[in-house]
Amino acid sequence: MSAPKPLLTVNEARARILEHFAPLNTEDVPLTSAARRVLAADLHAPHDLPPFANSSMDGYAVRTAEAGQGATLPVSADVPAGSGIPAPLAVGTAARIMTGAAMPPGADAVVPVEDTDDQRERAGGAAPAAVTIHRAPSVGAYVRPIGQDLRAGQVVLPSGTLLGASTIGLLAALGFATVPVYRRPRVAIFSTGDELRPVEAALGPGQIHDSNSHAIAAAAEQYGAEVVRLGIIPDDLAAVRAALQQAASHGADLILSTAGVSVGAYDVVKAAIEADGELRFWRVNMRPGKPLAFGQAHNIPFFGLPGNPVSALLTFEVFVRPALLKLAGRRRWEKLGVQAALLEPMDSDGRETYARVIVTRQGDGYVARPAGDQGSAVLSALARANGILILPEGATRAAVGDTFTVWLLDGGETAPDDAR
Ligand code: AMP
Ligand code: MG
Repeated sequence: MSAPKPLLTVNEARARILEHFAPLNTEDVPLTSAARRVLAADLHAPHDLPPFANSSMDGYAVRTAEAGQGATLPVSADVPAGSGIPAPLAVGTAARIMTGAAMPPGADAVVPVEDTDDQRERAGGAAPAAVTIHRAPSVGAYVRPIGQDLRAGQVVLPSGTLLGASTIGLLAALGFATVPVYRRPRVAIFSTGDELRPVEAALGPGQIHDSNSHAIAAAAEQYGAEVVRLGIIPDDLAAVRAALQQAASHGADLILSTAGVSVGAYDVVKAAIEADGELRFWRVNMRPGKPLAFGQAHNIPFFGLPGNPVSALLTFEVFVRPALLKLAGRRRWEKLGVQAALLEPMDSDGRETYARVIVTRQGDGYVARPAGDQGSAVLSALARANGILILPEGATRAAVGDTFTVWLLDGGETAPDDAR
């Protein structure tokens, strides 16, 4: 027997995987359906924002030189928002002006109504004949200058930006009715295993519900993918090959399967990939999740995730998520982590370990404790966890107080103190 190949490190495996992915094609979508899509071009501001100098308060537009404390000025104009660009401010007068209304040319400040003798609080009244200034304004007070937010021609958002409330608001403010985005990755997902039954079916002896395809589909959708569910496939070479063929006929950009990639007698997924494409490697120095297959079938990138539910989700997080983000046009895929000190000791076997933890605040920092049994089949501990603590490769024992990087799980953005 030849010596076993050394396991790939997590970083090596991820780097090799990412070489096989490039951003998908682009399409134009209406701004109304752009949330969670990824911008596919640098967008430039078509006009200044704001497009005209305007008042940030309800009050009186004045020339500061004429509006000292105690000055009384005749009111020569009334400028509601949306009334166009007003005539130049007559010398020695004030113009009543509302928030968002264009500044009259010649005026260089706004005196808020609270700083005048205009005490009327109801809406709709005519402007008074004259106004007395109680507090002298400085030049530019309460004026939002043209282009304060953005100048015409400036890059508003770079290609690769994930669009959400604030970015969509900004694009709307600049009049983008449609935006170029990357096509959403289409991900075909199937589970393999003769023991698996659909969630709606009763379990016979020795059977379990297929949880992986549901968990993996939810994870893929969370990262912007369109999911094609191919269901449960038996541990049979021909059946797995038929599923790969189906994924191809659905136009999948990525194929994900779970289980059947270990060294069991019925683990046929690797053989199917070798028959219809290429298997690039299948063992990574990671816990949980050592049996990870990557390759292609029908020239579509393929991940054979482990069967154990915790391993499947964590290998998804570590390897599939970055690949999906790259396909989707994102420029960055690193997860930000916080540093947390252990409240309980933990053991490892020296593989890079992704421990399920509950992380909470303590003083200025974070502390973490195991969220339950760390077995790779114990899904409830992952469900309870709000963080994944990374024990680096080579570490075998971590003591109380040792500090490690913890990924805060997506969806865990409420205060960690709320963790169950
Ligand atoms: P395997 O990789 O086929 O050896 O499977 C490893 C473990 O994961 C076994 O205990 C399987 O029963 C379990 N398993 C495989 N697929 C699924 C699935 N879709 N849902 C839940 N558990 C699974
Ligand atoms: Mg199996």
